[in-house]
Amino acid sequence: MKLYSPEIVETEDKFKIQTKFEYSEGTRTLWYSVDKKYAKYLTTEKSDAFVVGLLSLAMQENEDIYLEGKMSEVLYYNLSNYYVSLLSHSLSSLHNIKIYPKLLDSGVDYECEGAVGTGFSGGVDSFSTIYDHLFDDTPQSYKITHFLFNNVGSHDEFNSKRAEELFKKRYDLLKTYPQETGKDFIQINSNLSEILNMKFSHSHTTRNASCALLLQKLFSKYYYSSGLKIDATKVEQIDLLNEGNIAYSDAIAQKYLCTETFSLISTGLQYDKVEKTKLISNYEPTYKYLNICINSASNCSACYKCCRTIFTLKLLNKFENYSNIFDSVKFNKIRNLYFASILIGKNEIHNKEVLKLAKSVGYRFSIIVYLLIIPVWIANKIKNPLKDLIHFFLGDDKFEAFKYNLKSKVS
Ligand SMILES: [Zn+2]
Repeated sequence: MKLYSPEIVETEDKFKIQTKFEYSEGTRTLWYSVDKKYAKYLTTEKSDAFVVGLLSLAMQENEDIYLEGKMSEVLYYNLSNYYVSLLSHSLSSLHNIKIYPKLLDSGVDYECEGAVGTGFSGGVDSFSTIYDHLFDDTPQSYKITHFLFNNVGSHDEFNSKRAEELFKKRYDLLKTYPQETGKDFIQINSNLSEILNMKFSHSHTTRNASCALLLQKLFSKYYYSSGLKIDATKVEQIDLLNEGNIAYSDAIAQKYLCTETFSLISTGLQYDKVEKTKLISNYEPTYKYLNICINSASNCSACYKCCRTIFTLKLLNKFENYSNIFDSVKFNKIRNLYFASILIGKNEIHNKEVLKLAKSVGYRFSIIVYLLIIPVWIANKIKNPLKDLIHFFLGDDKFEAFKYNLKSKVS
């Protein structure tokens, strides 16, 4: 794979930074766009963001990367010696490749403003990072100054039209929170997801890191919210067919995505999901802005992430505060199906955390839940035509409860 040097293209209201690259499938252009206001922070001096963004693709195609431009010496060292090896160890579809930059960059050619960024999705992990880095007990140079909102796969990894729609809708839903806290909320759109065409759960770290690396003239630190507690950390082959997640190795991996002037920091590793939910339930803005749904722009109160969060908040006696953003009636209609599914998938890491909390507060599932275990288990095993029939009879909300993947799922 040959990467050309990045260039800036000005459109009506945005600035695009893009790189042409050639590989076995032909010649393509990877681009990222930001509002004009942030154009001065785009790092055109080197190709770090593009190398990291395209790394999984080059590894999947088993192609070494040849760079026309420069890349960070620190990043080059870490990718070449450790990160490529770690990724290929985690995913059998990725090969060990080499990177050949024409020049290495020592970080002295550009000024960095020393800002501190993090992604803001409105989710539990995201709010937990904010809660830990916004107040007086945080050292000044670690306080969050900017939020990022990226379109690199989290809104839909395979359907770019749907992804862009959700990207815009979710941004509009969330934008008043950064305004209220006086922080910039930087939108980064990109065609990276279209180019990669691979599972987000297998590649989210490099996708999001590439966005932050674009703005190395702005950020000296960037917090990447971990979905897992540190004791879940492991490096092992991900189950490609099921819901394996690269997040298990994030605590180890993220230090390899730093440069001379930029640190990627894995945050929230000290908490599990229940502990994070408890933490952020002390933070009033979450009553309005918590947004965790996998189905729609606002919380659907029926998908597995909505159900998990609602049930956790109820067990913590905090749900009342969230009654404006979740529909309790909708949840009550399908809660028995949800309970049956978490009992079947009781070894899944987040199910285990919720069940532990339920036990600790003395919550008892009804007999109906236990009677539903076998039908729900069967429903999860059956193939598509029969699933379509069940979908037709149950309607959207109840069918959602049948779709829980009972194997290991982290999000
Ligand atoms: Zn939902």
